[in-house]
Amino acid sequence: MSHSAYADSTTFHCAFCGEPNEIEVDPFAGRVQVYVEDCQVCCRPNVLRLTFDEDFSVTVSSAMES
Ligand SMILES: [Zn+2]
Repeated sequence: MSHSAYADSTTFHCAFCGEPNEIEVDPFAGRVQVYVEDCQVCCRPNVLRLTFDEDFSVTVSSAMES
């Protein structure tokens, strides 16, 4: 059994400073995942929304935590 076709990391751009952040993702934790990840550059909290499609490719969006 190979997981090589599945996304296990992706990059989001910080909603505050715009810097790219590489993050680990788990396609098996749910088709849609929303959680807070602190930016690795400015340490401010980004609300990430991850959406996985049928082939486990991932779309990520970031927003400022309100
Ligand atoms: Zn940042």
